[in-house]
Amino acid sequence: MNIAILPGDGIGPEIVSQASRLLDALKADGFKIELEYGSIGGCAVDATGEPYPEVTHQLVSQADAVLLGAVGGPQYDALPRAQRPEKGLLAIRKALNLFANLRPAMLYPELATASSLKPEIVAGLDIMIVRELTGDIYFGEPRGIETRNGQRVGFNTMIYSESEIQRIAHIAFQAALKRNRKLCSVDKMNVLECTQLWRDIIEEVGQEYPDVSLSHMLVDNAAMQLVRDPKQFDVIVTGNMFGDILSDEASMLTGSIGMLPSASLDHNNKGLYEPIHGSAPDIAGKNLANPLATMLSVAMMMRYTFNQEEVAKRIEDAVKKVLAQGLRTRDIASEGTPILGTCEMGDAVLAVL
Ligand code: NAD
Repeated sequence: MNIAILPGDGIGPEIVSQASRLLDALKADGFKIELEYGSIGGCAVDATGEPYPEVTHQLVSQADAVLLGAVGGPQYDALPRAQRPEKGLLAIRKALNLFANLRPAMLYPELATASSLKPEIVAGLDIMIVRELTGDIYFGEPRGIETRNGQRVGFNTMIYSESEIQRIAHIAFQAALKRNRKLCSVDKMNVLECTQLWRDIIEEVGQEYPDVSLSHMLVDNAAMQLVRDPKQFDVIVTGNMFGDILSDEASMLTGSIGMLPSASLDHNNKGLYEPIHGSAPDIAGKNLANPLATMLSVAMMMRYTFNQEEVAKRIEDAVKKVLAQGLRTRDIASEGTPILGTCEMGDAVLAVL
């Protein structure tokens, strides 16, 4: 297993070092694991002037999987757009053709009270959002800000090709087959032609998956249903921008973005694995960050890239046990419970593992 590790900025190095301890433990168990480190985001800008330097591109191109912390920070907000840390993320996704983003939103029973919704609405929640990651308005051309008729206008292009929709549809139907066989596709076909095509193609691909029950929902309704009755969903598939927003909303149902991993895959299951949260500059360097999302990202890596279901389960079970023992970082602690730091939470998971 050749794994490239890109810790990034803010809390990235702290959380990634706990996750790489997991990989070291697996190595000690006899797995052949090679780890190589590289830079992305703000730290790469500081070192090379670019958020996704060529040397990082070479490293990740040769790896089987990439583990990433997070990028960004207020010190980079005034940089020209092409040098912003977030550009590094868009660049690596595009360069590796990682078109499918899988984001589970699960609520561990022990954390049901951490959600801002009533426990009966969220307890036992287990949904998967499949977001298209390399197309849509985030990449569409033309784009820009220019002066027209004496005033500035800003514009972007929402665009999807048939083949882009087909390939994400297949990933989503296959994910549904492995779960409860329900797929809900989210669009805005009443207003946007681009998403009318999305709905048509999803319907067409759906003919190949008669065992999956397919439904469609407009994005505004989906945003509402996710807080009204989130357990009605099994797998949701949607485009890049709607997926960006809905997956953050779904993650908040679970009470902490510090708990949720993600996978971004190409055609061959090469993947980029990262927690869904950002670089949390407000708590960086203070040993306060929750490392579990990043550790669970290693579990997803074992499942999706290396086909090691048993190892994935072992890591997930270790996290469950630690939570069942009442161990908490600050973001998931309820009043009166003792609080562990980032390193101590890493110690606890490793001890169980
Ligand atoms: P954020 O996710 O970094 O933080 C939001 C809130 O959640 C903060 O209060 C933070 O302290 C808390 N938080 C996040 N991760 C946590 C963890 N593991 N444990 C405990 N608490 C945690 O989002 P933001 O504040 O909007 O963005 C901060 C920076 O991160 C920005 O520069 C943004 O562009 C960048 N960002 C990067 C990514 C990424 O690398 N994938 C994603 C989102 C935002």
